[in-house]
Amino acid sequence: MPIYEYNCMDCNEIFSILQWSSNQSTECPKCGSKNIKKKLSSFSCSCSIDSSSGSSRGSSNSGFSSGG
Ligand SMILES: [Zn+2]
Repeated sequence: MPIYEYNCMDCNEIFSILQWSSNQSTECPKCGSKNIKKKLSSFSCSCSIDSSSGSSRGSSNSGFSSGG
């Protein structure tokens, strides 16, 4: 389930809410205000670089043009 972070505009409370429905009424759990803003979820990109042993041997073909 997606968890969204909200920031209350009234009391500056930051809370996370499980949003199971798209049109789910969300309000501040602290002051009960509806004046909240959804924060952008800043997830860290953990990209594991797998050392793929790609056997890509580029055969450099040097075109030697003799004479001409
Ligand atoms: Zn609040």
